[in-house]
Amino acid sequence: MAYWRRLIPENHDIQVAIDRSQCIGNGICVTLAPGAFELDASMKAVVLDPAAESEDALWAAAESCPTQAIYLSSGGEALYP
Ligand code: SF4
Repeated sequence: MAYWRRLIPENHDIQVAIDRSQCIGNGICVTLAPGAFELDASMKAVVLDPAAESEDALWAAAESCPTQAIYLSSGGEALYP
């Protein structure tokens, strides 16, 4: 992914959900898409603003999650996993 794309979030319609029971808190999603994810006080990921990150960044975060705890959807249709 080109660096400049990380700086200009796309006008996408991707919803993000996290199964916190699967999250092991390693923070990969926060590193890859810091506008969309953060770790809370219990070191589990929470969703911030998916629109603040590019579609590529959201996909990278979801695909990089070691426990597949990140779910992507659009218009009610599951995209990932
Ligand atoms: S990448 Fe997955 S396991 Fe790691 S903090 Fe994010 S949701 Fe949790």
